[in-house]
Order: sequence, then C-alpha cells, then structure tokens
Amino acid sequence: MTEASAPIEAQQEDTLTPPSVFDVAVIGSGPAGSQSAVSAAHQTRSVLVIEAGAVSQRKGRAFWSKSVEFQDAPVFPGITGPRLANALTAWMSAQVGRMVTIGGKSRHVGIWRRGGMVLRVTRVKPAEGVHAPAGHLFAIEASTRPLKAGTKLTTERFLARSLVVASGFEDIWPDIDITEGADRLYQTHRILFRYAGNRKGWHVCIRCDGHLHLDEHIAVVASGDFAWSIARGAQDFTGHITILTNGADPDFSDARRATLAERNIEVITEPITAHIGKGTDLLGLKLSSGREVFADGFFVDYGLKANREYLATDDGWDLKTDDEGLLVVDEDGAVVGADGIAVPGLFAAGDIVAGQRNLIATAFGLGQNAGLSAADLMRDW
Ligand SMILES: Cc1cc2nc3c(=O)[nH]c(=O)nc-3n(C[C@H](O)[C@H](O)[C@H](O)COP(=O)(O)OP(=O)(O)OC[C@H]3O[C@@H](n4cnc5c(N)ncnc54)[C@H](O)[C@@H]3O)c2cc1C
Repeated sequence: MTEASAPIEAQQEDTLTPPSVFDVAVIGSGPAGSQSAVSAAHQTRSVLVIEAGAVSQRKGRAFWSKSVEFQDAPVFPGITGPRLANALTAWMSAQVGRMVTIGGKSRHVGIWRRGGMVLRVTRVKPAEGVHAPAGHLFAIEASTRPLKAGTKLTTERFLARSLVVASGFEDIWPDIDITEGADRLYQTHRILFRYAGNRKGWHVCIRCDGHLHLDEHIAVVASGDFAWSIARGAQDFTGHITILTNGADPDFSDARRATLAERNIEVITEPITAHIGKGTDLLGLKLSSGREVFADGFFVDYGLKANREYLATDDGWDLKTDDEGLLVVDEDGAVVGADGIAVPGLFAAGDIVAGQRNLIATAFGLGQNAGLSAADLMRDW
C-alpha cells in the first residue's frame, strides 16, 4: 500500500483506560479538529477526538485533494489530502492519552482517538461530584462500526465537559452521470468522483487550485453568485473562461452580463449530460444538444451542506447560522445561539464556521482558538 492510499487509523492502540468524562470532545479530525485537540491536550486536558473517516466515506474536504498537492498549507512543503490526513493523525498521536500527577493529584491528559460518526449530541445533568463548568455535560452518541447492509447500527456514548464542532461541510455536487437508485452520495456520484481532486478534473476552490491552470481553459459549472465569484477569481490565472449553468438560469444582472461579454466569457445554459474523460483525467463535458465543451480544469460550486446534523433542534440546539447553515461563533470560537448569546461549553472551528475563508491555514487558526477556549473553561479559578 502506498503512503498516499494508507487508510486513516481507526483508533489508537496503546490507549490507557480513558476517563469516564473527557474535558474536551472534538468532532472531526481535519486541520481544525486536530489543531483543537492538540491545543487542548497541550494545556493538560483530556481530549476525545471522534472522526467519521474510519467508519464511513465522510473523510473531510482536505482528503478530496487526491493527487493534487496543497501548496499553501502551513509547514507542509507540498502534500496531498490523504497524506495530510495521515500527518495529522501522527501529530495527534504525539499527545497520546496518559496519566500525569500535578500538585499531588493524578489526572488524565492527552488525546484519545475514536473512529465514529457522531449521530446525536445532547446536554445531560452531571452526576453528583462531577465537575461541569458549563453547568451540564455533553452526551455524544456515535456510530462506531462501518455500516454494512444487513448489520445493526453499533453506537457508543461518550461524555465531555466541553465540545468543539470541527466537522466541516460536504460540497454539493451536480447531478451529471449519476447512478440512479444508489442511496449513498459516493455511489450516486461515482463517475464524477473519479475526476474530483485530480489535476485535470473537478475542483471546488479557485483559490486552492486556480494555479494549476495558468493560462489554460477553465470551465466554471455554476450559476448566479457562485459562478460570478469563481469567474472573478479565475481571472488571476487565465483569460480563457467558460461558464456552464447546467440548465439553470444564469441569474446574472445586466451589469454582470455586460462584464462577462466584455471579457469574452461565454455563458452556456444547456444541461450537461455526461463526462468526457480518460482514466482519471476529465477532458470535457457533453451537453444535451450533443455539443462537447473541452477544458483543462472544471470548477464547480453548488453550495454546501454543513456537517452538524447531530445538533438537532429537537434536542434543544437552537443555534445562529448563516444562509448556508454554517455556525456563527464569537471571538473565543464559542457557538452563538439563535438568541445571540454564546452557548456554554460549545465551540466550533474550521470550515463549519460562518464568514471565514474555507482554507487549511484558517482551519488551523480557528482550531487553535476553539481548542484553547475549551481548555480554559476547565480552570477552577
Ligand atoms: C479538492 C479540494 C482542494 C483543496 N485545496 C486546498 C488548498 O490547496 N489549500 C487550502 O488551504 N485549502 C484547500 N482546500 C480546503 C481545505 O481542505 C478545507 O478548508 C479544510 O480541510 C477545512 O478543514 P476542517 O478541519 O474545517 O474540515 P475538514 O477537513 O472537512 O474535516 C472535517 C472532519 O470531520 C469529519 N466529520 C464530519 N462529520 C462527522 C461526524 N458526524 N462525526 C464525526 N466526524 C465527522 C470528517 O470526516 C472530516 O475528517 C481544498 C478542499 C478541497 C475539497
């Protein structure tokens, strides 16, 4: 097995018995979650990291950069998504969960990693004598075994005094060449995913991958504000841009139409029916009329779905979000409730946070802020 294709470790093997209540639980171990966990563990907190990648196809946005190296992530000179995931795992392993004695008192510190898809988070009353700085504990229910047809869901419950939500979001993909009847996202978009995250393929971030297509032909598959913002970003890299709305109304104002026409940016509104590819290279797209449009890179934006389904309104989570469902946080990384007040003990970091750049360095920064805020909460005085 090559280093790039090595799977994310399910969980660490050398664990000391974990505490019954963790100081900090982190959901997701992308750049934001890993940094939150390391920052909190570095302040002598016991940290549980729950990551869905070990039990599901949900592996984080960074993982999608299958063969394209990140060139702008801190410290790493150039690294693909799968290798970054492994590097983050190794980094967390250096803070392995253990017992330390401070001021004559022995306590758990460090990181315990578990493979699990978090399904539900609720607030519970702490048992007598259990320190709960937010006034409650977080009960985290996760599915901890890969789901196979015909098998029962295996769930486990974990308790923590504070929670960092770092589960990012899923990009929404256009329905081109979909496998009808498939019930999982990854099966439905099998053909599209063959080309995603490769140099000549689907890209989701012009800031990240625009540099791969210097002076080449960039196709933008989107409409409205999404298309406009990719096309604006794309001009830094090339003068050859085509917008394909895939049957949708382009939704551009007259002023925007005039600007696109001035820059010779063609807007094609025909539906896209199929990919034209070779191996893992995407070469072009076939349109409903039979016309074929060839390009060197394909940038798509159909919006996103925030990975926070486990914070359900029915369980009392009434949180402030932006139009896309991303969480609003204050300067400490604390999640803000619909009433505008920070929710005690609940923090968020990375792509799941509203109004931030969806990039690795930003995720690390937000992760550090949330991890330290969660750690600070444990102090008695
Ligand atoms: C193709 C591609 C190329 C990119 N290129 C660049 C680049 O060149 N430079 C750059 O700076 N950025 C790039 N990005 C963006 C970058 O990957 C993200 O901004 C970054 O990964 C965000 O980090 P995060 O930790 O917030 O979220 P993620 O990396 O998405 O991690 C979230 C984690 O949470 C886990 N998770 C989700 N739901 C659950 C759940 N219910 N229970 C448990 N775990 C869960 C996921 O499995 C995942 O591991 C790229 C993104 C893509 C898709």
